[in-house]
Amino acid sequence: MPMFHRGIVLAQHKEPAFSKPVIRFVNPQTDSYRLDRKIPAKSEAEAVIEIARRARIVDERDGRLLARKLEKALLKAYIVIADAVDDEPYVSSRVAMILQFPNELTDGIDLCCRVAGCERSAIMAYKMVTDIETRVPRRVNRVKVVRQRGGYPADRAERMRRLGPGQKLVVGAGALVHLARAVYDQKVQTTVFVTVAGDCVAGPVNLEVSLGMTVMQVLERCGLAQEPTRVVCGGSMTGMSVIDPDNTLITFTTRAILAFRENARDRHYTCIGCGHCEQVCPEGLNPMYIHRFVENSYYANLKPFDAHLCTGCGTCSYICPSRLELASSVLKAKEYAESWFIRREEEDDEA
Ligand code: SF4
Ligand code: SF4
Repeated sequence: MPMFHRGIVLAQHKEPAFSKPVIRFVNPQTDSYRLDRKIPAKSEAEAVIEIARRARIVDERDGRLLARKLEKALLKAYIVIADAVDDEPYVSSRVAMILQFPNELTDGIDLCCRVAGCERSAIMAYKMVTDIETRVPRRVNRVKVVRQRGGYPADRAERMRRLGPGQKLVVGAGALVHLARAVYDQKVQTTVFVTVAGDCVAGPVNLEVSLGMTVMQVLERCGLAQEPTRVVCGGSMTGMSVIDPDNTLITFTTRAILAFRENARDRHYTCIGCGHCEQVCPEGLNPMYIHRFVENSYYANLKPFDAHLCTGCGTCSYICPSRLELASSVLKAKEYAESWFIRREEEDDEA
């Protein structure tokens, strides 16, 4: 299938949150949870895995339990990679770990190296960080920072391929900080690192917030300069719109909360090719292509796209970070497809 785009290269606008210190906004009760010091284990590597399990550390990059990932990499991976890439404009909650918690970050990397039985490690950060005065260093303690170039959505597979063949243990920078805290301070993971930004947020900042807090509590902590019309959890490009911020909770994978004010007429952004609409369509349609053809009146190109199967559920429009009116385009295409079928049947009858 032909591709219409190759991704857009982002200039990242991570300020003003990025250069400010990470602020703690935590529930004192859960923040005091500590692990039992006695960890029965045969080896140091197994002890680290057991601590990660008991501390319930979840990797924010994929939502998987860190202990499971470590078990899989036990004495097998040849390199440990700390993922500090924040692809999204506005979001800097992972790359901030490099500046704000360098020692915990590299301690977490060292612990993973001991589990994997390897000495190689790197921290991966995004290259196109253009609007910041604070520079990302080339090394954090002994660990090299590898800067990744590229378009968007960031091609992670390509990044990994460039690091060479063999098993790699890739862990989010936030999870590594939590691992170091669990091993050296016996801390259970009860918090996550979240960027709070957007044009409605009075004080954009990276926060360390407790799991289970609500999105609205976190927004109010930073102050709302104006009432948002749109709140997104997870980033402006790949995040999910939040319908009810008062009842939406911070989870292990929340990396950003963005609050925007949009005028209805500003809503027509360009498709960024994230692919969410295709992933969520219950009928397996590709709303992105159908929308493009309908917008350009290329109705003849619509035939292979099965628009007649659309149930009008609206999920594609809901998920689209560019706020494109996908469902109405698909329904237009469906009308066209149905009239085309009727015309063909009539022609067949006449023949
Ligand atoms: S509205 Fe149609 S195209 Fe969009 S998700 Fe639902 S079935 Fe798929
Ligand atoms: S969800 Fe929206 S932005 Fe993403 S591919 Fe589909 S149409 Fe494009």
